[in-house]
Amino acid sequence: MTPSSKNAPVALITGASRGIGAAIARQLASLGYRLSLVARDKIALQALSEELSALGFEPAQIIVQDLRVPNAAEASKKVIQQVVSHWHALDVLINNAGVAPKIGLLQEMTEHAIEQTLDLNLKVPLYLMQEALRVMVQQSCGTILNLNSVAGKTAYPFWAVYDASKFALRALTQAVCEEARSNGIRVCGIYPAATDTAIWDDLDLQQAPDRQGMLTPVQVAEAVAFMVQQPPEVLISELTIQPLKPAL
Ligand code: NAP
Repeated sequence: MTPSSKNAPVALITGASRGIGAAIARQLASLGYRLSLVARDKIALQALSEELSALGFEPAQIIVQDLRVPNAAEASKKVIQQVVSHWHALDVLINNAGVAPKIGLLQEMTEHAIEQTLDLNLKVPLYLMQEALRVMVQQSCGTILNLNSVAGKTAYPFWAVYDASKFALRALTQAVCEEARSNGIRVCGIYPAATDTAIWDDLDLQQAPDRQGMLTPVQVAEAVAFMVQQPPEVLISELTIQPLKPAL
């Protein structure tokens, strides 16, 4: 493990309080990154920051923020400003915060679940990308990585709104990748299959999911680190990660 230094790259990770986001935070800290961690659960963020500090890493910046607010553009701007004023840099944005609504037929989904999914999985990464790009274009470098899903490449019945949010996120990622690459900025997406996190707890599946057959958050985090650690002249634009013997 490498303790972070004054010149270490700065990574902003949304949804860092648990699951894949927390695993990415641990992975990037171990590689020497300085971290800004965003989520709503202050206690979980503080516990993670203390865990990383106890290992000798630079204390993470904690940003307690509900990203799904009526003015998501303003909230995103505030988050990026907080990161830049704390570290005077922003090298990597990991758009990880996301939600999966209870599965079911489209006509049975509530408006709240639909709005929540589209807002958090699509609009929030969009506005954070927009603000991060404004910083990264000035410095002519940076990496934005969006946590997508295999549901961003294959549409699964009963997951229509989640599928739609992730397909749209893929389109956004691909288009902005082409817009930004000439400025030295990498924009990429990772597409994990089912991963054993709390996202599966409230999905109302008819059968309990086979968590043994899922990826672990650490496996996804290692793949994320592989993508962002590439030399600056190399772009891995998409990476699909799945268990060899899938659960679903
Ligand atoms: P998770 O364990 O439920 O964690 C979700 C994270 O998002 C939490 O840190 C949560 O923190 C944060 N979050 C939720 N609502 C938020 C809000 N309104 N404002 C700010 N932060 C919020 O989920 P996960 O499985 O790690 O999923 C992470 C990402 O991976 C998502 O984009 C998901 O779509 C994607 N993914 C997951 C799987 C899987 O099978 N698990 C597979 C493929 C892709 P707070 O509650 O503290 O706010």
